Formats: sequence, C-alpha cells, structure tokens
Amino acid sequence: MYVGSEFIKTSHYRTSKTGKVHAYLRRKTVIVFRCDSCQEVFRREKGKIDPKRLNNNFYHVCSNCDAKRFAQEKGVEARRIWDMPVSSLKTIGSYD
Ligand SMILES: [Zn+2]
Repeated sequence: MYVGSEFIKTSHYRTSKTGKVHAYLRRKTVIVFRCDSCQEVFRREKGKIDPKRLNNNFYHVCSNCDAKRFAQEKGVEARRIWDMPVSSLKTIGSYD
C-alpha cells in the first residue's frame, strides 16, 4: 500500500573550472510503500512511478516478491469473496 513520500539528500560532486571539487546536496523525493504481499516497507524514486499509482487503488509489491504471482493470488481471493454471498445463503443453524 501507499504510505507517503519522504525526501532524501544525495550528494553530488562537481568540478569547477579551476579544478576544485565542490560537493553539493540535492533533495530527491522518494515514495514509501508497504508491500501488499510481505508487508515490507520499501522506497521508490518518485520519478520512476506513474503518478496515477500513488494511492491505494493499486497494490504495491516490493522487488523481493513476485508481483505476477501476487496478482494471481489476489484474483483467487477476489473470486472467493465474490462467491461468498452464494454460499452464505446457508447460514449457521439452518442445517436441520
Ligand atoms: Zn514483498
């Protein structure tokens, strides 16, 4: 799931005309996700993600997990939920 965004500082080095090396910091936005498969928190660079996916209408799976397999399992789960109203017609206590 989408957790939020945070800033990280990355250092870059630049050599000036006089040959001096200057270090400078750049602020980078990273997006924090919690894997919907293993619950591990992971980060992705903001520029590498489709902005449309920065919400919880999508599942987010970390690089350690198999996103395709996760999607398949979710498909099975959704089907089970979908089937539930049918089987729940037999409520507990109506088996006599
Ligand atoms: Zn994972």
